Amino acid sequence: MNRRGKTFIVSGPSGVGKSTVLRALFQGRDDLYFSVSATTRPPREGEVDGKDYHFITADRFRSMIEEDAFLEYAEYVSTFYGTPKKYVDEAMDAGKDAILDIEIQGAAQVSAKRPDTVRIFIAPPSWEELERRLTARGTDTPEKIQKRLLRAKVELDSASGYDYFVINDTVEQAVEELRAILLAEHCRPAERMDLICNR
Ligand code: ADP
Ligand code: 5GP
Repeated sequence: MNRRGKTFIVSGPSGVGKSTVLRALFQGRDDLYFSVSATTRPPREGEVDGKDYHFITADRFRSMIEEDAFLEYAEYVSTFYGTPKKYVDEAMDAGKDAILDIEIQGAAQVSAKRPDTVRIFIAPPSWEELERRLTARGTDTPEKIQKRLLRAKVELDSASGYDYFVINDTVEQAVEELRAILLAEHCRPAERMDLICNR
């Protein structure tokens, strides 16, 4: 059975564990495509250019905006982030689900352009735990951590507009819930009817 992939957005406060959970979800899955964003922030220790992000200059970012190369882009804590459109479309045409780890402004842009996008919000088990994770990650200055925590409050407020809400208490449970969401979304009548009608 041939099917076109779907787009799934995963949003949630910085430090909640999106990268960790998505890394675990992608294990052994060649039916999923992780959308590698472009960003103007410098790489963190261990981050690989082209795998975690495309690390680009502000000038290059502006050119990509002019070339209409982004499906969406946004400014988040004084840094630009954007989703290159081309690879997402290629992956979906190849039948893969595209997973976008993006913040709430970008998520709103994608939903407006592509209403069939599925939006998943990942929340921390508590506020204290979010602060603990952000601090334990050790990648941001105390000032940056405070900015990210302030932003997290705004993000949590918009979570009710999402389709699904996953609490990242343990990574295993969060991954299981993500797998279930992806599977369920491919059982919607429109897709299934289309498949049997086009056999
Ligand atoms: P994000 O991508 O949302 O910014 P990360 O994946 O970088 O978050 O995770 C932030 C920190 O929290 C990392 O140090 C990670 O190891 C830790 N972490 C992620 N998920 C969990 C969890 N379920 N329990 C405990 N620690 C976690
Ligand atoms: P970080 O700097 O911690 O990797 O990411 C900060 C925030 O930017 C996270 O909420 C992440 O989801 C978001 N983000 C990453 N890539 C993109 C993107 O391409 N577009 C948008 N709008 N947000 C992104």
